[in-house]
Amino acid sequence: MPAATPELSVVIPVYNEELNLPVLFARLYPVLDALGRSYEVLFTNDGSADGSLALLRAQHAARPDVTRVIDFNANYGQHMAILAAFERVRGAIVVTLDADLQNPPEEIPLLLARIDAGHDYVGGYRLDRRDSWFRTWASRLVNFVRERTTSIRMTDQGCMLRAYRRGIVEAIVRSGAINTFIPALAYSFASRPAEVGVRHEERHAGVSNYSFYRLVRLNFDLITGFSLAPLQIFTMFALCSAAGSFLLVLILAARRIFVGPEEGGLFTLFGILFFLISVTMVGIGLIGEYVGRTYQVVRARQRYHVREELGGPALESAAPVAPGSRQA
Ligand code: UDP
Ligand code: MG
Repeated sequence: MPAATPELSVVIPVYNEELNLPVLFARLYPVLDALGRSYEVLFTNDGSADGSLALLRAQHAARPDVTRVIDFNANYGQHMAILAAFERVRGAIVVTLDADLQNPPEEIPLLLARIDAGHDYVGGYRLDRRDSWFRTWASRLVNFVRERTTSIRMTDQGCMLRAYRRGIVEAIVRSGAINTFIPALAYSFASRPAEVGVRHEERHAGVSNYSFYRLVRLNFDLITGFSLAPLQIFTMFALCSAAGSFLLVLILAARRIFVGPEEGGLFTLFGILFFLISVTMVGIGLIGEYVGRTYQVVRARQRYHVREELGGPALESAAPVAPGSRQA
């Protein structure tokens, strides 16, 4: 019989990880068993098209006391998968990690030690990052932009090996955020965040689920989801350019009066015009980005759909109703 409230909840999003799950199970559960704390593991199957769900089912059958599976009907993305688990966790401490073994489960005790030391949010940063040079450099660039446009300070936003006190997780759930970046959201609610260096391994099998396009979108979400700075910077640029254009008009008017009509300079003017038009288009796109986010929040549509849940209190409390006991 599972403990009503385990001390620790481990949250793992799974998308097409059939080659990694057996190794993950073999490494994760011994680490958790050795902790000497009661725990539960919540896997979210994020619409996998391979045998991941079957493997998760088998694992639930093997360790029903500590294994819970949330099964999405489609692919909603890593952060939604984590959020669905966050809405269901019971532990006082919550740990997230990836299913592809890039975050070694053996590092979990390191995070817990910092939580025990009184921190409410512990973010891992990858000591020796094992990703392609492109990913590493792109992530440096995004780090740089994020540090300057948002108030979020973290060494490694891409590392999902993190521990949270339950209060932080509840705040994330309550925020009702859409297209969000969980580590950044957690940081904004934390009062004593800490960081700890963790090992990073190469993906055990398969390739990253993030295409270039998905990465760009994710990082757009990170910036526009946490800051209005892009809009403000744009407005400042627009003000400067308006002042410049006004000056140009004054100069041209003065020339017209004192020197005579302008002849050359047509293409220079086109050049300036094209530049300003493209800046305007960027501005429209930027506004669209924020309007889109607003639209999604206002629409308040269900963020994901759970097809089935294995384990956890929802099923345990679904005891058959005795005939006649139903209220009219
Ligand atoms: N993931 C997910 N849904 C997605 C994409 C990824 O649940 O749409 C999971 C994936 O199974 C893994 C984690 O999120 O556990 C990180 O994904 P991945 O390794 O592809 O990303 P990377 O390590 O390249 O950032
Ligand atoms: Mg990975």
